[in-house]
Amino acid sequence: MSNNIWVFIQQDDGKIADVSLQLVSKATDLARDYNNKTGEAVQVEALLFGENIKEMAAEPVKYGADRVFCVDDSRLKYYTPVPYTKVLVDLIKKENPQIILYGATTTGRDLGPRVASSLKVGLTADCTDLQIGDYESKGETYSNILYQIRPAFGGNIVATIVSPEKKPQMATVREGVMKLNEPDLSRKGEIVNVPSIVEDADCLTEIIERVQQDKAVNLTASQIIVAGGMGVGTKEGFDIIADFAKTIGADLAASRAAVDAGFIHKDHQVGQTGVTVRPKLYIACGISGAIQHRAGMDQSAKIIAINNDPDAPIFQIAHYGIVGEINDVIPKLKKAFKAKA
Ligand code: FAD
Repeated sequence: MSNNIWVFIQQDDGKIADVSLQLVSKATDLARDYNNKTGEAVQVEALLFGENIKEMAAEPVKYGADRVFCVDDSRLKYYTPVPYTKVLVDLIKKENPQIILYGATTTGRDLGPRVASSLKVGLTADCTDLQIGDYESKGETYSNILYQIRPAFGGNIVATIVSPEKKPQMATVREGVMKLNEPDLSRKGEIVNVPSIVEDADCLTEIIERVQQDKAVNLTASQIIVAGGMGVGTKEGFDIIADFAKTIGADLAASRAAVDAGFIHKDHQVGQTGVTVRPKLYIACGISGAIQHRAGMDQSAKIIAINNDPDAPIFQIAHYGIVGEINDVIPKLKKAFKAKA
C-alpha cells in the first residue's frame, strides 16, 4: 500500500477543470495531516489522461501535486467511460493509493462509481468537507482514515461517512467547496509517463461532436454576489436586484425558492442543489437562510443580509444585517454606492 493521496484531474479540450486543482489543494492539507499524525511521508499524486497533455502536466504540481501520472493516447482525448475506467483501475491496482478524489462533475460522477464498482470499494458523492481521523467499530480501531463529510437527509444533518475496510477510499467533491492554494510556479514535481493500455476494442463509444451548452451565469468564480430570495416577491422585483447587482459590479444569484417561483434561471441557484460560492462579498436580499441555502454560501468572506424579519436565520451568519423592506433598502444602498463611486 503506497498510502498516497490521488486526485483525478479532469481536462476538457486542454483545460484543467478548476475543481481538480481545488482538490489537489485539499489533498495537500490531507497529506500534511496524515504525515503529522503518522510520521509517514504521504504524497499527493495527480492522474491526467488525454491527448497531447504534456503542457498541462505542470499545472497540478503548482498547486501541490508531488507526482503526475500521465497517460497520453488519442483515444483518451475526450472522457469516455470504458477506456478511462480501464486505465484508472489498472493504475490503482499497480500503485495502491489510499484515497482518490474526483470533482463532482458529470465526468467525476460517471467515472467514480465505475471505478468503485470495478474494485468493490466505497465512494461518497458530493462531499463538502474531508478530514483525516480515527474510527472505532465492533472493537476494531481504524486509524487515520478519510472522513467523507456531506449534508444528508435533505440537508438537515451533516453526515460523516467512512469506508475503513477497503482501499482506496473515494469521494467526489463539488466545485467551489475546497479552497484553491496559491500556485507556486517554482514547485517541482515528477511527471510519470505511463504507457496506455487502451485498445480499440475498448472504444465502444465515439465522440462525433461536442457542443458546449452556454450557462446563464457561472457563479463559482464571482467575487461579489447579490442574491435574491422569495422576499423579493415577484419576477419584476428581481429587476431591482439585478439593477443593483449591475450598479455595484456584482453577479446575480438566487435561492431555490426564487428559482422554483420562476423569478430567475436555475443556473443562478446557490445552495445544496445549486452552486457553491465563495465570493468576497455576498449580499442576501429577502433570503431566510435555510440550511440548504447556507451550504452554498456560508464560506463567503463577508455576508450582508437584508430581511424584514429580525429573527431570520440568515442573520446568524451575516457579518452585517439590515432589517428592512427590500424595496426600501436596495434603492438607498444603490444611491449611497453611486455617491461614493
Ligand atoms: P423563504 O424561506 O420564503 O424566505 C423569504 C425571506 O424573505 C423570509 O426570511 C422573509 O422574512 C423575507 N422577506 C419577505 N418579504 C420581504 C421583504 N419585502 N423585504 C425583505 N425581506 C423579506 N434552497 C436554496 O436556496 N438552495 C438550494 O440549493 C436548496 N436545496 C435544497 C435541497 C433540498 C433537498 C431541500 C429539501 C431544500 C432545498 N432548498 C434549497 C430549499 C430551502 O430549504 C428553502 O426552502 C429556500 O432556501 C428558501 O428560500 P428563500 O429564503 O428565498 O424563501
